[in-house]
Amino acid sequence: MPYKARFFSLLAGGVLLATTAACGSGAAQTAAPGGAAGDKPTVVAAFYPLQWLTEQIAGQDVTVQTLTAPGVEPHDLELTPQQVAGVGGATMTVYIKGLQPAVDEAVEQNGADKGFDAAAAVQTLPATAEEEAEGGEAAHEHEHEHEHEVSYDPHLWLDPNRFAGVATKLGERLAAADPAHAQDYKERAAKAVTALGALDQEFTKGLATCSTRSIVTAHEAFGYLADRYKLKQVGISIDPEAEPSPARVAEVAKVAKAEKVTTIFTEALVSTKVAEVLATEVGAKTAVLDPMESQPSGGDYLSAMRGNLTTLRTALGCTA
Ligand SMILES: [Zn+2]
Repeated sequence: MPYKARFFSLLAGGVLLATTAACGSGAAQTAAPGGAAGDKPTVVAAFYPLQWLTEQIAGQDVTVQTLTAPGVEPHDLELTPQQVAGVGGATMTVYIKGLQPAVDEAVEQNGADKGFDAAAAVQTLPATAEEEAEGGEAAHEHEHEHEHEVSYDPHLWLDPNRFAGVATKLGERLAAADPAHAQDYKERAAKAVTALGALDQEFTKGLATCSTRSIVTAHEAFGYLADRYKLKQVGISIDPEAEPSPARVAEVAKVAKAEKVTTIFTEALVSTKVAEVLATEVGAKTAVLDPMESQPSGGDYLSAMRGNLTTLRTALGCTA
């Protein structure tokens, strides 16, 4: 018996060693089940906007994988063991620390030196007071806790100007990781910066003169957009999966009336129930404003942002 026990313990040790080795240099093959990718670097993107940006800069030189499937809310995403292994085997993982705790953990444990945290590439905005208050509440009420391990607002992709800053830094990182194509990454990054700059200009002009500047949103995803274009965001909830308290809804209704809000914004992946109740109460309509936390059903980041601009201009009564 002791012999058998030792045998199994040795076997277990061997498996452990093999697993550890797979997380190191040999992992690229296991992480790319297709195998057809050949020697191309693999970059894992945490969710849609980062996937879009990575693809713009990566071109044909990188295989881009995404952790959040289309139609899935990225907040509180859970990863499969294969996805965690994919993070370990990838050349780089592009993510936003604090948005998806499971991704933070996978990067920390499997490739901290290969993580590209987009939040570290820009000047972040602090998390709002509501966010902190509701985060605590949600943790008690909901099975899936919406934990914020960071003190900043993670939704930075909704400011095209900041997102352009991420593009430049990501281009530099890809160039360093794959020097053979360095010039291509830098050129494509510059192209993305130009496209995002044009989008920024359209927002600046389109939202310059409006009859109200308050936006009531389903969840507080638009802080950066509001900051950039001088709008005032009133989020009904911070957690897309959490229902706001009646007190919070009453508070938002009061603000919406005072600010003469005509539209309560909803989003595709979140229940519209509370927004509809609120809209009826204040005599407003509802319209979809896409926080782009998942791939839009048609088009891409740029076209969905332009759709958001059109929606905002109508709702806020913007001229020119
Ligand atoms: Zn969000």
